[in-house]
Amino acid sequence: AAKEQGRNGFSFFTREMQTQSQNRLHLANDLREALANNQLQVWFQPIAEVATGEVVKAEALLRWVHPDRGMVSPAQFVPIAEENGCIHDIGNWVFQRSALMAKQWSDLFPSVGGDAPSISVNLSPRQFTRGDFSDHWAAYINEIGLQTESIVVEITEGLLLSDASDILGKLENLRAAGMQVALDDFGTGYSAMAYLKKFPIDYLKIDRSFVRDIDADANDRAIAEAIVAMAHKLGIKVVAEGVETEAQRDILASVGCEYLQGYLYAKPMPEDEFLAYVSHRAAPRVKVASL
Ligand code: C2E
Ligand code: MG
Ligand code: MG
Ligand code: MG
Repeated sequence: AAKEQGRNGFSFFTREMQTQSQNRLHLANDLREALANNQLQVWFQPIAEVATGEVVKAEALLRWVHPDRGMVSPAQFVPIAEENGCIHDIGNWVFQRSALMAKQWSDLFPSVGGDAPSISVNLSPRQFTRGDFSDHWAAYINEIGLQTESIVVEITEGLLLSDASDILGKLENLRAAGMQVALDDFGTGYSAMAYLKKFPIDYLKIDRSFVRDIDADANDRAIAEAIVAMAHKLGIKVVAEGVETEAQRDILASVGCEYLQGYLYAKPMPEDEFLAYVSHRAAPRVKVASL
């Protein structure tokens, strides 16, 4: 019986794997057309500043409305785009939509919470293999008359530890052009502290996995507290991701996070909705903490 079970288990496993890889292949083909066929959208999620209670930043998040499958998660298709190389065109397009949105927002409100509003764009490691992207981005920012600080580039720990060539030089180029750098999903990767001092980083984003149970789990709270203390000593500001409850918000504010992002404030929304969101509330204010 054990043998039979093993055999069944095995055949089930391969069938499953086959379906998965066929699925991937279909998606990879469809993705090549998705940008040209206007199936991709950039949504924006507000980020609130603890000190002022204002929405001062936002993160650009890709959405794919597939004609047959409906919404496909970026967690599913971004790795495919990386693999087949589409990520360069898609990533440049996400940047462009984000820069145009930042321009409209900062034309409405040149300063929110004391700074120009900024929008952060996620960057895949593969995009870094083309070294000249930051020159093109900087040129575009100039062309539309945007302040360079209005673009934040989000990278992950994996990139910093990869063997991609001259990451430091490329990040310094971005910085020299005036753009800012955020380290995304902090705490989920290797969290080698040495790279925080080696690479030019303006923001650390505490991953949602540490935020989720922070009101019940003393260890998660200690981790968040330690991350914030370390970041501040290095002159880095902290954003907490995935803030869903007031209890989480209060703890994160009390340990010194400067910025909060999550469903408690707003979910990611399409371009027109986001523009209405920031314009209809002349000085968008959200309750940040009950301290
Ligand atoms: P990420 O950069 O860590 O983005 C944050 C994710 O957390 C987003 O998922 C966002 O919708 C979700 N989120 C925000 N607040 C909450 C909350 O309170 N609760 C919960 N449960 N989730 C929250 P999303 O949009 O599905 O994106 C997933 C990942 O896909 C992103 O993680 C990022 O790694 C990648 N991605 C998205 N857009 C792009 C892009 O334009 N380029 C690249 N290279 N990657 C992207
Ligand atoms: Mg991100
Ligand atoms: Mg993140
Ligand atoms: Mg994350």
